[in-house]
Amino acid sequence: MLPTLSTRISQLQPSPTVALNTKAKELADLGHKIVNFSVGEPDFPTPEPIVQAGIKALQEGKTRYGGAGGGLPLRKAIVGKLLKDNQLTYTPDQIVVGIGAKEILFHLNLALLNPGDEVLIPAPYWVSYTEHVIAAGATPVVMPMPKDHKSPRLTPAMIEPFVTPKTKAIVITSPSNPGGFVIPPDEMKVLGEYLAQKNWWVISDEIYEYMSFDGPSISIATLVPAIRERFILVNGFSKGFAMTGWRVGYMAGPKEVADIVRTLQTQSSTCLPPFVEEGALEALRHGRELMADKMLILRQRRDLAVAILQEFPELDMLPPNGAFYIFIDLRKVLAKSALYANDNSLDFSKKLLETYHVAMVPGEAFGTPGFIRLSYAVHENTLKEGLKRLGDALVAIGGTRR
Ligand code: PMP
Ligand code: GLU
Repeated sequence: MLPTLSTRISQLQPSPTVALNTKAKELADLGHKIVNFSVGEPDFPTPEPIVQAGIKALQEGKTRYGGAGGGLPLRKAIVGKLLKDNQLTYTPDQIVVGIGAKEILFHLNLALLNPGDEVLIPAPYWVSYTEHVIAAGATPVVMPMPKDHKSPRLTPAMIEPFVTPKTKAIVITSPSNPGGFVIPPDEMKVLGEYLAQKNWWVISDEIYEYMSFDGPSISIATLVPAIRERFILVNGFSKGFAMTGWRVGYMAGPKEVADIVRTLQTQSSTCLPPFVEEGALEALRHGRELMADKMLILRQRRDLAVAILQEFPELDMLPPNGAFYIFIDLRKVLAKSALYANDNSLDFSKKLLETYHVAMVPGEAFGTPGFIRLSYAVHENTLKEGLKRLGDALVAIGGTRR
């Protein structure tokens, strides 16, 4: 008999986005023509100057350990970015760069939480937030969106019923995944003013910052400086610079938090690979200009996807004005089929993959059954083909197409 496994870690769910992407790739390898709308990653290649900076660094021998938490040039460049884009002042010792925003968030949870602590997570949420909290031995408190899903914003009134003396932190994601929506500045300000009265860590995941279609996405701390003391900004290079495989993310926050997260990194991944740092530096120098046309393309794809989805009168969606997701409300169509009663988007997504060869992540993965997430950062033809197949699947269970 084997010795037992960790009780705490055994509770974790495998990341459903990563699992579905893996399954879709396996089916494609077996020769199936899979349309993969599952994982949230831009289909664009990393801009060439960034790639070249990484290659040059490898050729120059930047292949050894780097400094923990990221080299000083990269941390200084991030400080510059935060000042320029977000009007937030930091010093390099307040920045920690890690292996993707995911590692940073994982370490942050381990660093901030004690058993019994509660973390407020608005649903629909990105799949890893709850599991990171559980891994840290604390308790995720999921705050469901209102039944009227057309007002998905995070208001103090929505939060208040979930507050307890154990509340330790809140996670805010705007532009959001899977919602694909941006909290508008006036609502963000109200939220910030509310949070300024609380004694919680405010973790703001701004990884989709550059994908905000109705004006810039503004950080809650920019709007309400009073929360700065307890504010931790998380961002990454995966989305805005098409660098998912490079694995670069960072946090900016109080020095005490940066110190403990860096200590944890020295005991886990050690550092960011130094040649990756060079690519990241180049991204901060020129990446935004290099990606500007891609942001327009994403917007066009959003418009195309919305237009196609509107052919189905029973479908509804959160207003998709950021990131590259549409969180589609299937509830009215699912209700027409006994197979998918009780908003069973999980089984519907299985059917969609197995029969129609379209991979989409079901709402259950984001704490919100009855929905399905479209990641539209794919070529226009793929988008059309996949949405046609989604339409066929909906019609097959009683949905109508105009
Ligand atoms: N936060 C959100 C909201 C995300 O969607 C992702 C997607 N991977 C991450 C964090 C982590 O990104 P990465 O680890 O690639 O930096
Ligand atoms: N964040 C992306 C997604 O939601 C990438 C996969 C992951 O890390 O979850 O699909």
